[in-house]
Amino acid sequence: QRDKSRSTKDEARNPDFILLLFHDQTEQKNIERMRADFVANASHELRTPLASLIGFIETLQGPAKNDVVAHERFLGIMLDQAERMSRLISDLLSLSRIEMKAHVHPETKVDLVKIVKHVADALGPLAMEMGVRIETDIENESERQMVAGDRDELVQVLENLVENAIKYGRDGEKILLSSAPIKDAISGAPFYAIKIRDYGPGIPAEHLPRLTERFYRVDVATSREQKGTGLGLAIVKHILTRHKGRLMVESVAGEGTTFQVRLPLPSHE
Ligand code: ADP
Repeated sequence: QRDKSRSTKDEARNPDFILLLFHDQTEQKNIERMRADFVANASHELRTPLASLIGFIETLQGPAKNDVVAHERFLGIMLDQAERMSRLISDLLSLSRIEMKAHVHPETKVDLVKIVKHVADALGPLAMEMGVRIETDIENESERQMVAGDRDELVQVLENLVENAIKYGRDGEKILLSSAPIKDAISGAPFYAIKIRDYGPGIPAEHLPRLTERFYRVDVATSREQKGTGLGLAIVKHILTRHKGRLMVESVAGEGTTFQVRLPLPSHE
């Protein structure tokens, strides 16, 4: 309300209008909602094995107190549940560690050829145990494929993808791990493409866009059985973002899945 008795000096100091600033809070709200969803999902994922542990401990203290056979069986299940919690916590810690880091230092260069060979060797025994073999196909193997990056993180990217190929693609008998320099079809920009190809059952198309969401699993029962946490591809995505890289996937039902990791050449980031 305008006060007629106010002097011009007062008006200058206390004007009759207020400046209203509008901020679009949609993005901020989305981030907050995603964070709340994440905490709820993480708590739920941890609570499930914990509830099962409590249930078995109570049974062992009460009805199965003197049942030696039940003791043996229940302790085995309890160990599985505790290991599952431990895997979840270590994946959650990896994810939060990676999220807190900025972009990788452009001066630190690593050779993808060495990383691909290292991962193929490291996971060879696990693949054999699961009845598959890892084959590598590195273009110009004697030449180096240098990118700016963190060696341990890039090893983790390939390990997560090859472990998934072993776990979920094991109906086929081999996994092909290849690496080659290629040019982007549209921009012509050069980059290295590492492909992880399995010959397993494939992933139905409707799931492909959501694979890198935290805790997203195509088949929860299979993932649990294969000791999955639903965080592996979320970790891959975060590491690649830090490296200005990309993750692509192609899958054909019954024929298998190819994940492709693209990393820019150091001069074309
Ligand atoms: P998890 O820890 O469950 O393996 P990931 O984030 O690594 O989680 O993968 C998400 C889901 O994507 C898996 O649960 C699985 O259903 C599916 N998936 C990933 N890789 C493959 C693959 N090579 N073949 C078939 N399904 C796959």
